[in-house]
Amino acid sequence: MHTTAVIIPAGGVGLRMGAECPKQFLALAGVPVLARTVRIFSQLPEISTIIVAAPAAYLDETREMLGRFLPPGVVTVVVGGATRQDSVRAGLAALPPEVDLVAVHDGVRPLLAPELARACLAAATVAGAALLAIPVNDTVKESRDGATVSATLSRQHLWLAQTPQAARRDLLLAAFAAAERDGFAGTDEASLLERIGCEVSLVMGSERNLKITRPGDLPLAEALLQEQTAAGGCPLRVGYGYDAHRLAPDRRLVLGGVDIPFERGLLGHSDADVLLHALCDAMLGAAGLGDIGQHFPDQDPAFKDISSLLLLGRVVDLLAAKGLRLVNADVTVVAQRPKLAAHFPAMRENIAGTCRIDPERVNLKATTTEKLGFTGREEGIAAQAVVLLDHR
Ligand code: MG
Repeated sequence: MHTTAVIIPAGGVGLRMGAECPKQFLALAGVPVLARTVRIFSQLPEISTIIVAAPAAYLDETREMLGRFLPPGVVTVVVGGATRQDSVRAGLAALPPEVDLVAVHDGVRPLLAPELARACLAAATVAGAALLAIPVNDTVKESRDGATVSATLSRQHLWLAQTPQAARRDLLLAAFAAAERDGFAGTDEASLLERIGCEVSLVMGSERNLKITRPGDLPLAEALLQEQTAAGGCPLRVGYGYDAHRLAPDRRLVLGGVDIPFERGLLGHSDADVLLHALCDAMLGAAGLGDIGQHFPDQDPAFKDISSLLLLGRVVDLLAAKGLRLVNADVTVVAQRPKLAAHFPAMRENIAGTCRIDPERVNLKATTTEKLGFTGREEGIAAQAVVLLDHR
């Protein structure tokens, strides 16, 4: 079993795109190209470390941007170099000691299918090194003066190199050391490995594994992405959550992250914020991620008396890792007493702030049960939540 890292050189300044910012920051259907690329690997359980090598001038911007679209701690951003080779070398220098297999993937190939990444890693595990590539379909001409054809090459044995390119760590380090010693500059990692006599396996890539380099590539990538989403079904997901807690003396009453003055409070391992628990369950449900008890077990001392707003924040991160975000939430609290309406604005601010959405998208309601049942007898408080998530 290997410990695998991926290095993502994102050092280009993207002059060919003619844009104001480097191409890895350009939005592809609302999410920057580089964030989409990193997300592919953050969802591969095989990958233990993700290192992005960014231009020194864009280091903070890269960290800030990735922080907005990925859960904290997922990616390490290091300063890249002037060339791709320099950037990958910087990434290699930042590898944790336990890593023994390294993949390198272009920061501007955001449409890589996870199964292709896996196939490449599997091939590198067997052969020592592997890359994704596709056979050349067009006839290939050689021109020495850039104006007339000097030869037609046989395309029979020609392949176009893509990424990821993966290799055992020791082989990759040896290849980089040899290139540095000889002053050799390659445009990919495989060329460095070939030079030292390393056999590199070809793994069939895909034309969909598009490298975004020219202005026309972005709309093409958006069309491919739309097709993927359509093939994966509806991009909207609905979820439902329910929770109830018992009222007890000598406890704080916390609802929606707001301390509410009342003679009793809700009993529970955390702060027992029944409103937020129902909301978390609805969000996890919509994402197909089980329920709150699975993620934050009530035997775990780490969650003792914890503010449920922190739990909600973690749920938001789990969703973000799957490319999902909250569109809107509708929550009903069932309580005979106390009256809650005056606290709704503060609760909405708490929830919207944690979910990073407009408070207008968070609807809160309260109802009694006309003194019927456990809520009516004031033995406890219950909450129900319905949410909509979208994919991006
Ligand atoms: Mg609960």
